[in-house]
Amino acid sequence: MSQFSTLRVGGPAEAIVPVATVAELSRLMGWLQKNEIGWQVVGRGSNILVSDSGLAGVTIFLEGEFRTMEKVADAGEGAGEERALIRAGAACLLPGLVAYCTSQGLSGLEFAVGIPGSIGGAIVMNAGAWGSAIGPLVESVALMDDSGTLLTRKGESLEFSYRQAALPPRTILVEATLSLRPGDRDVIKKTCRQYQEKRRATQPIAEPSIGSFFKNPPGESAGRLIEKAGLKGFAVGDARVSALHANFFINEGSASAADMLNLMHHVQETVYGRFGVRLEPEVCIMGENQRKK
Ligand SMILES: Cc1cc2nc3c(=O)[nH]c(=O)nc-3n(C[C@H](O)[C@H](O)[C@H](O)COP(=O)(O)OP(=O)(O)OC[C@H]3O[C@@H](n4cnc5c(N)ncnc54)[C@H](O)[C@@H]3O)c2cc1C
Repeated sequence: MSQFSTLRVGGPAEAIVPVATVAELSRLMGWLQKNEIGWQVVGRGSNILVSDSGLAGVTIFLEGEFRTMEKVADAGEGAGEERALIRAGAACLLPGLVAYCTSQGLSGLEFAVGIPGSIGGAIVMNAGAWGSAIGPLVESVALMDDSGTLLTRKGESLEFSYRQAALPPRTILVEATLSLRPGDRDVIKKTCRQYQEKRRATQPIAEPSIGSFFKNPPGESAGRLIEKAGLKGFAVGDARVSALHANFFINEGSASAADMLNLMHHVQETVYGRFGVRLEPEVCIMGENQRKK
């Protein structure tokens, strides 16, 4: 899985199945259920830490029609006076969607510029930055359950909270409809540029990572606590706490998942010992514990 994770870490997947249409996904889910085969879905792998022993069962990747995006209603055409609706397949890339919204003069997603995930991963993780998150923009989603049946849910039913959403268990997000405000294209572009520059200056975006490793504790910054604990630059093998942003763990070449997990435990214990704060991973740790057959 190392080639499917931006951290470049992870053992073998037992089986990888790319799926290009909703009909194919429905058939696959029905077949997996009938044969009692476990599965997981991966987006762009920009928030996953896969164990060295890899992933059991079938690992599903969405492609083809899951990559399409379109404007489905203009402001005032059923989307509400001040809103326009964009439908995006789960495999669309967040940066691509930001660019599309900018070209359409739609505002709301500027915060997401530079977040390298898919729409599916972004909604499941309630991706956010600079005080905004994707959850409040979600009008509705289409999901597929274990049996291959399509379900729709209103955005508010997903109970978005800090880096999480309450999707019904064992479902795959197929597409989402987002509600955006008409805005001035030049202002949207300028805001995106400012966020991108801020990211470049403060985050190691050119190095293999999965973004912020820990959630920020209430009223605190995980990065600041790690830095204050003297752990900036600390390494276990090739797994290192970034010298630029202490909440980013970098793979300097040949780090294993075990190196990353050992680094995680060391950081958690040190920060707890110094400040009495338990850091909780924001990243999704996959494999072994998640195995289901
Ligand atoms: C340099 C860098 C910067 C980052 N900056 C930010 C940031 O500012 N803010 C932020 O929130 N995140 C940030 N991230 C983390 C990451 O990009 C986001 O969490 C992103 O939304 C994850 O999307 P993904 O497609 O890569 O998901 P993956 O990593 O592939 O998967 C994440 C989880 O979502 C599940 N999932 C994926 N697709 C689906 C689907 N279709 N249906 C159901 N479940 C699904 C997976 O099973 C897994 O549990 C950053 C990462 C990097 C590398």
